[in-house]
Amino acid sequence: MKLTSISFWGLLLLLSVDLIYGGTDYYSILDVPRSATTREIKKKYKLLSKKYHPDKNPGDKEAEQKFVQLAQAYEVLSDDEKRSIYDKFGEEGLKHNTGGQDFHNPFDIFAQFFGGSGHFGTQIEVDVSKQVICEQCRGTGAKSADDLITCSACNGEGMKVVKQMLGPGIFQQFHSTCDKCGGKGKMIKTKCPICEGKKVRRTTEQLNVIVDAGMVDGGDVKFEKESDEAPDTIPGDIIFKIKTLPHPQFERNGDDLYTKETISLIDALTGFEKNFTHLDGRTVILKSDQVTQPGFVKVIKNEGMPQHRTKSKGDLYVEYTVVFPSVIDEKTKQGLKNLFPNTDRITPKHEHNEL
Ligand SMILES: [Zn+2]
Ligand SMILES: [Zn+2]
Repeated sequence: MKLTSISFWGLLLLLSVDLIYGGTDYYSILDVPRSATTREIKKKYKLLSKKYHPDKNPGDKEAEQKFVQLAQAYEVLSDDEKRSIYDKFGEEGLKHNTGGQDFHNPFDIFAQFFGGSGHFGTQIEVDVSKQVICEQCRGTGAKSADDLITCSACNGEGMKVVKQMLGPGIFQQFHSTCDKCGGKGKMIKTKCPICEGKKVRRTTEQLNVIVDAGMVDGGDVKFEKESDEAPDTIPGDIIFKIKTLPHPQFERNGDDLYTKETISLIDALTGFEKNFTHLDGRTVILKSDQVTQPGFVKVIKNEGMPQHRTKSKGDLYVEYTVVFPSVIDEKTKQGLKNLFPNTDRITPKHEHNEL
């Protein structure tokens, strides 16, 4: 019975090793050990995908292929479920278990890290101080695997049987957590020199906060399981809240944008053509061949904020301010009077009669 089970596991081990090395080795593509944490995998992907991005290697087919492979390896190894299937059954296993392994566009994977097309959205590098599992001892706190020994106080059980005498000949027996090993059943003979047996260490990690175009004030950017790490626990998330700073030129109201444009009196009367640079760097043309009244608001459709995760946009409202001259000399005054007969007090009919 025992023999059968040994040979079965032996076969399975051989089988899975064969499958992985027969197919694509995602670990070697990302240059990480098979025991790498998700954090290590992310870090490596971030580093290598930047290096092999086709924009940085124009015309280099090899780099392009490497970029695609990196995205595929990252897609599998950063997903706990896919990774465990891959670890057990290799690339073939993924094909069977996920109904055919369809990879996402490598540029989409890259964009998740470094931001997309750049229209209105942005990315901010933030340094976060956090506690991580010690990479040296992988959270055991011991210098090597041999330095993790069975607790002699509880024989590795983690529990001790305590007998207590309640009265003459009457004993109560109960289980109690071993105080020597804290219930772990293991003790450290020689401490890990890096974390000094603490199993964790503090570090600063750079997170790339991607603010998608159209995100609302108070919106979240979540980094799953990126909070403080501790042995035998699942780390929590780090959540960034978006707080919008006022913009010198634009004011936002939902998906709409408001801006003010100043024009001269001559422009207001005779028309104009002006350019301004929009938030995404495009040039928008404002023009009029009519009289523009002070305070007139022009609505430009689809030039507002992009709606988050949709292709539609709000509108842009441009309010015109007309700058009047502060002083005017007698000669200009007379000239203007001749050009513009006083239409406020004289009706057009009267005006006509006068002429
Ligand atoms: Zn350590
Ligand atoms: Zn113990």
